[in-house]
Amino acid sequence: MYTDIVKDLILRRLLTVQNNRIVLFRKLQYTMYPARAMARTLQHIGNENGEEYLFKLGYEAGADAAEEMIENMHLIQKAFPGKLTAIQLLLEIIGFGKPLVKVYDIKHQKLITQVVNHPVIENGKNLFGEKSMACSFYRGVYSAHVQRELGIKNAHFEEYKCICKGTGDHCLWVTGLTKKETAEAMKKY
Ligand SMILES: [Zn+2]
Repeated sequence: MYTDIVKDLILRRLLTVQNNRIVLFRKLQYTMYPARAMARTLQHIGNENGEEYLFKLGYEAGADAAEEMIENMHLIQKAFPGKLTAIQLLLEIIGFGKPLVKVYDIKHQKLITQVVNHPVIENGKNLFGEKSMACSFYRGVYSAHVQRELGIKNAHFEEYKCICKGTGDHCLWVTGLTKKETAEAMKKY
């Protein structure tokens, strides 16, 4: 599997600098917001408005980005067979962690993913420990992406393991599972 996505995007001029701005797919502008500051910002918003609000905020951000990704995904599909792989790699490059999808069951509308290598969640853990609320924002982001890009309708990720809470060495997010299936997933993943 081809994983050197950054190099490939640069070679194909899909990741460039224009007018001193980082531009992906020739038109999407990206900023580099420090992960630790992002964790602080999310914590502040969560303290003021609650975790459900953070989820919704993440969902809106994810839905907006997903629209742009769908529009531009054809630009990278040649190099990466399978949109799941492309989405996983793209999320990692732009600082949204590495989703390790364990179950993607489109027929029964279920998805189980571990989340690792997430710069903001890791900084949230270092700054706020088990009180960190960063995961709620990114559960929202991921829910929007799998709904728009992977066809899991009404996706709403719930968290069952968390590096911040110390209940796992990764975060475990699931959507569409029954209680029994969730219990099994927690043992297995
Ligand atoms: Zn977590």
